[in-house]
Amino acid sequence: MKIKDIRFTPLFSKFKTPYVWAMGKNLGQTTILVEIETDAGVVGYGETAPTMTSPEAIQTLLLTAKTVLLGQPITQIINLMKQLFTQNFGHHYASQSHPRIGNIAFAGVELALWDALGKSVGLPVHALLGGKIHDTVSFMGFVQGDSTEEVAAHAGQLAQDGFEVIYLKAGYTNDKDMANVEAVRKAIGNRRLRIDPNEAWDLMEAQVMINKLAKYDLEMVEQPVSAIAGVPALKALKQSCSVPIAADQSVFTPEEAHAMCSSGAASLLTVGLHETGGILGFRRVAAIAQVFDINVCIHGVWETGITTCASIQAASGVPNLDDGNQIMWQLLQEDIVESPDLAPNVGKIPVMSAPGLGFTLNEDAVGRAAEAYDKKNGLEVT
Ligand SMILES: [Mg+2]
Repeated sequence: MKIKDIRFTPLFSKFKTPYVWAMGKNLGQTTILVEIETDAGVVGYGETAPTMTSPEAIQTLLLTAKTVLLGQPITQIINLMKQLFTQNFGHHYASQSHPRIGNIAFAGVELALWDALGKSVGLPVHALLGGKIHDTVSFMGFVQGDSTEEVAAHAGQLAQDGFEVIYLKAGYTNDKDMANVEAVRKAIGNRRLRIDPNEAWDLMEAQVMINKLAKYDLEMVEQPVSAIAGVPALKALKQSCSVPIAADQSVFTPEEAHAMCSSGAASLLTVGLHETGGILGFRRVAAIAQVFDINVCIHGVWETGITTCASIQAASGVPNLDDGNQIMWQLLQEDIVESPDLAPNVGKIPVMSAPGLGFTLNEDAVGRAAEAYDKKNGLEVT
């Protein structure tokens, strides 16, 4: 079970409708498909979400994986990832100087290694990790749209579809945020409502806005202030607002998770495989949060069904898993995963039992997404 070849293919996938959030509007997403082929002919798939810098910069980092990994056994995932970080950043496993960029870049390699290992031994990845304690994973209804009318209509539809948790982007103008939350609350009845201003507010603005919006019975506000403001800003918010606060962009690493949880600054961690560098990193962060009786909520970034399946494999064995988890594949005009059907049923997706990460790729869809990336010449379309 040695690594014979590693391939990286940038993909561009258009969204069904423009993705509107506090950072602007995106027409599509770029992901990098990672394929690891063993000497037995098994191919494992993963994907990297190049969100923190250009896809080209991330791909340059990824290409170093070839010299590190070729010829090595896929049974040594921890050691292989450690070697990747050591070669690129001169530090073991996680880089002291660039932990976030390293995690973002190499998460796709880790996922592909797990997929290849699971397929090689005929077991789903959750079984390799010690088994699952959840048979399904629950997701929130992710509201899309630009105008207040659009978000209210979509939120109402999601509530009808059975999602218990409805999640709305915020951080636009204060008037628009107030109008959106009021309209969505009306559309979803007594469903649970969470909002995410994506770091758009300063501390005082966040205190004012959250206290004003509290009358709409918000269950949680996710990362309302800059991640750079760190633990103190979230802690100040938590002390001055009645609505629970979640940390998202503030937490990528186990060290950041420990600082956040031990300070009492957040009631929930929203964190995914890409921020934590893969399945093992996600499990480490989740274990730290569990010590403080804090749940982790799967975070979505640019992703296809590959990340969705990998997230479910990782989360299925996490006791302190939230029930308003995030997925993003459903926003795409065309996903590259052919099976299983990843559409949540009443908000839930069953844990995959097929070997590896548990999916089959649609090779034609991969070809179309690769062609779409080449056509736009690597430029991000936003
Ligand atoms: Mg967020």
